[in-house]
Amino acid sequence: MSDLNLFAEGDLVLLVDRKDRRYVVTLVDGDSFHSHGGIVHHASLIGQEKGIRVRTNKGQVYYATVPTLADYVTNLPRSSQVVYPKDIGAILMLGDIFPGATVVEAGMGSAALTIALLRAIGPDGHLSSYEIRDEAIIQGRENIGTMLGSSENFRIRNSDIYEGIVENTVDRIILDLPEPWRVIESAAQKLVPGGIMVCFLPTILQVHNLAFTLQTHASFEMVESIEILLRPWHIAANSARPMHRMVGHTGFLVSARRCAGFIE
Ligand code: SAH
Repeated sequence: MSDLNLFAEGDLVLLVDRKDRRYVVTLVDGDSFHSHGGIVHHASLIGQEKGIRVRTNKGQVYYATVPTLADYVTNLPRSSQVVYPKDIGAILMLGDIFPGATVVEAGMGSAALTIALLRAIGPDGHLSSYEIRDEAIIQGRENIGTMLGSSENFRIRNSDIYEGIVENTVDRIILDLPEPWRVIESAAQKLVPGGIMVCFLPTILQVHNLAFTLQTHASFEMVESIEILLRPWHIAANSARPMHRMVGHTGFLVSARRCAGFIE
């Protein structure tokens, strides 16, 4: 019987060097990981505990463990900009993505957000991801397969979401595309009352357009616009200060809830 705490062929491994450089590899017996610091043979990890130090042939030390979703997303093969983990975390909370939820997402891109949504809705949820670029569909599908294997409750729609959402009684709509205001009318029809829409937007001009349109729309309430700033700190024996460099900007988040109208 296989021990789930030991690395096996086909597992994803996160390798972290002493300078905190990170690499994600899939274990294949006979393959090896090459870096400036030397070679690690995959075979030397297979059968070892999933959180262990390993030396290269040149004596460099790597920590080998299972990548978290954030590690995987940060190192994702990509055909488009992916949503950063700090924003994915906020999207899951703002959108209140729950096990069993019916969720519509667009665009799928490299599927960083898609993978997080699939994990959050669990096996009883349903996710439809709209994407217009064939290249993204191929890349996204591959990334999902690598991290999660096959998902029965997931479908990719190779269509333009501006032309309308096909699904009915949708609990949550998550948008990462240039003109989310073009989805508002469809969202107003397809979201359940109380349902939540969350949009990721790189520029504040988009935020203004979207948030103001939602605020003045009869079918939406509780429109919120936020930005998540993450400031990592350097901690050492005689030093505790913010890192010199940080990611200055990723995007803004706008959320809103569907309102069914007045009680007459
Ligand atoms: N959230 C993704 C990145 C999405 S990038 C991730 O985390 O990896 C934006 C994607 O939206 C692009 O791949 C683009 O092709 C797609 N897109 C743009 N307009 C669209 C539309 N009207 N309908 C469906 N997809 C669209």
